[in-house]
Amino acid sequence: MASDNNMDDFSTDAILLRKIEYGDHDLIITFLTRDKGKISVMAKNAKKSVRRFSGAMDLFSVNHIQCAFPKKNREAMINLCQTVLENGFSHIRYDVVNTAYASYWTEIVSQWLEEGKAQPDIFELLYTALEMVDDGFIRTEVISLLFQIRFMRLSGFSPGLDQCDACRTGIEGVDSARLWFDFKAGRVLCPQCRGSESCAQEFPGPSGRSAPGCWVSKGTLKQLSWINAVEMARAGRIKFSSVAIQEGETLLESFIPFHIGRNFNSLKFLHKMRSEI
Ligand SMILES: [Zn+2]
Repeated sequence: MASDNNMDDFSTDAILLRKIEYGDHDLIITFLTRDKGKISVMAKNAKKSVRRFSGAMDLFSVNHIQCAFPKKNREAMINLCQTVLENGFSHIRYDVVNTAYASYWTEIVSQWLEEGKAQPDIFELLYTALEMVDDGFIRTEVISLLFQIRFMRLSGFSPGLDQCDACRTGIEGVDSARLWFDFKAGRVLCPQCRGSESCAQEFPGPSGRSAPGCWVSKGTLKQLSWINAVEMARAGRIKFSSVAIQEGETLLESFIPFHIGRNFNSLKFLHKMRSEI
């Protein structure tokens, strides 16, 4: 179909990941887009152009955005031309704990993804997780476990939760209620292997002894594997005990920053909010 648009211009759905002021009038905005992955764009005169940028410029809001590649200097930033709000997730914003969760997921995506690499699966995952919180039918803690474990799979660093990483015994066959999850290796170890000499060599920590990790019960490991495998809507209906939620949170909220190699401000805020409930 013929179009008057320049070939270099494009429009796509986009979740706002980050926003930085640039000079007195402009903003540099990082979006996770459906079609082009994570992109950073320049919003010229953003603070004045209420008409062009009618979309919400808030963190994790979803907008339909129109952008233009720079015509002359190919190294320059993409220009944001227009935004139209699709979903501002007002129910999330009413609630400070829900906002803390959504901000944490947004920071994970912002920190981990490369610029300009299309990852529609991750876009869908984040969008769906935000919608689920906004709808309010499923506990946000459970949605957060869902989001984190599936994000890791889609990003290619799924933790190994099905068997002991040293002796390869399936978790069902391990003669113990709990297994050790090693943050560095991203794998579980049965208590016997964790205590053995060869394992300490294979998984050395800073002191040469065992690496940082946490104990997790078999039931939690099975539930985490399960919600990773089934479709999102079904996974949300699984009943989690409060112990399983707590263990799942400890495991995932430690493993992800450990793996990405930095601390998340949003996670500190989330922990503070959660401790005050
Ligand atoms: Zn073992």
